[in-house]
Amino acid sequence: MDKKVKGIGVLTSGGDAPGMNAAIRAVVRTGIYHGFKLYGIRKGYDGLIHGDIHEMDSRSVSDIIQKGGTILQTARSPMFETDEGMDKAMRVAEVYGIDVLVVIGGDGSYRGARDISQKGMKVIGLPGTIDNDIACSDYTIGYDTALNTVQDAIDKIRDTSYSHERCSVVEVMGRHAGYIALNVSISGGAEALLLPEMEHDIERDVIKQIIEGRNRGKKHYIVIVAEGVGGAVQIAKAIEQKTGVEARATILGYIQRGGTPTVRDRVIASMMGARAADLIKEGKYNRIVAYKDGQVTDFAIEEALKMKKGIDQDLVELSRILSL
Ligand code: ADP
Repeated sequence: MDKKVKGIGVLTSGGDAPGMNAAIRAVVRTGIYHGFKLYGIRKGYDGLIHGDIHEMDSRSVSDIIQKGGTILQTARSPMFETDEGMDKAMRVAEVYGIDVLVVIGGDGSYRGARDISQKGMKVIGLPGTIDNDIACSDYTIGYDTALNTVQDAIDKIRDTSYSHERCSVVEVMGRHAGYIALNVSISGGAEALLLPEMEHDIERDVIKQIIEGRNRGKKHYIVIVAEGVGGAVQIAKAIEQKTGVEARATILGYIQRGGTPTVRDRVIASMMGARAADLIKEGKYNRIVAYKDGQVTDFAIEEALKMKKGIDQDLVELSRILSL
């Protein structure tokens, strides 16, 4: 064990995601198992700047594994992006004896972690976001729960869509990343799909699909629109005007961020949280824990921030074929 490291601070930052609590629990318990002192920092980097910090023991993380959201709460901290804010955060960490910061969040939170690491703080990042938009990782904590929440909503919408012979346009989360939209278009049996990663044309990608579907005998339709494309209400209006099929828009919104985490999210979050504490025990810092090819692994933070991840074109093609 690195002799100098005694205290580990853990925080959640950026958007909340189901499974973050399982990750916090694993960091705290594995950290204690390895002999470290653990500190919970509330409300992300803001809590670090303002000293909203408390020591955690094994019981501090009892009865949280099944809860959505994050018991440490989360926030966006513009102050942390300033030199002054970051210096204050460093001073507060020193007062509490926090030698390593475990940051559970997305790309923005990693940039914050990278910046404070350049001031001498040791950091470990864990991927926590429902959007699955972390380039170095095939999987992010919260993604599976969000997929299942969206799937459940689509199944319900499909019942009414079938009964009224309507078209349902469903807008799902993903400002820059269409992973949720793409996967639920397959699992939800959608007729059309609009992703932020791909150029789109409503006439070609939606109206034509519905008309061709009708000619093949379809009577109800599901159209999935990623948030980054947006305009679900206008798309529904265009469908009605151009096809005569009654259309309704549903914007799922924040329902997708909450709820009890799935088994997959709990298990992977637990593995990732434990990996963070193991890395610290091994004296390895400034790394992002990731999930690659079915295994928990880790990358240097600089390398992780430079990586790119595209949308799976085979899945896009599969979605199109299965909508015939
Ligand atoms: P996410 O982690 O989900 O991508 P944000 O992009 O909102 O969420 O980032 C969360 C927080 O991380 C911000 O409020 C800010 O405090 C910090 N942060 C983001 N980008 C930077 C940056 N370039 N430098 C320093 N801190 C950053």
